Amino acid sequence: MASGENITAASALHEEAATAAKAWARQLASAASGGQLAIRRVIRSLHVVWAQPALLALPRDYDRLFTYYHERVCLQCGAVPKEASVCLLCGTLVCLKQACCRRHQVAEAVQHAQECGGGTGIFLVVTSTYIIVIRGRRACLWGSLYLDDYDEEDRDLKRGKPLYLSQDRLELLQAQWLAHRFDHTKRTWVWHRDSL
Ligand SMILES: [Zn+2]
Ligand SMILES: [Zn+2]
Repeated sequence: MASGENITAASALHEEAATAAKAWARQLASAASGGQLAIRRVIRSLHVVWAQPALLALPRDYDRLFTYYHERVCLQCGAVPKEASVCLLCGTLVCLKQACCRRHQVAEAVQHAQECGGGTGIFLVVTSTYIIVIRGRRACLWGSLYLDDYDEEDRDLKRGKPLYLSQDRLELLQAQWLAHRFDHTKRTWVWHRDSL
């Protein structure tokens, strides 16, 4: 592309969106002459293309997630985190609660929740299987998305039984996140004092 240097990601996206909108309008206009059924078909096809935001895709076996993350280094401090925690919005690994990544007295997960989720953060603590949700100045222990064969959690991986992703829990977590309903969940919320 000759004028490639002048195209930024933002302008490309903008142009693409405009082109797509024009195409949709054309499709709708031509369907309009075909009556209600034709319009409905077009609208349904447009709807399928759109996917709502989703949390990070997680493997079914906890073992795979653990193996993938437990020796990984934090990009901020370069060390393997003591309590490695994965942001379920973007996949970044943070040092939960640790002094190494504290900036202006704010620990890394809280910093990351501000930068990545506008104050809302969902972290999977790799060493305990637990989910920690941060909402502004408060946080809660949400529970685990991974359960054993008897649908029980294995917090801190003490029993060492194989754990599998619970689709029901994942869907619940995702629904609460999408609907901004975390404040209304019956979990115990505590002030995190920037220490997470
Ligand atoms: Zn993130
Ligand atoms: Zn770190």
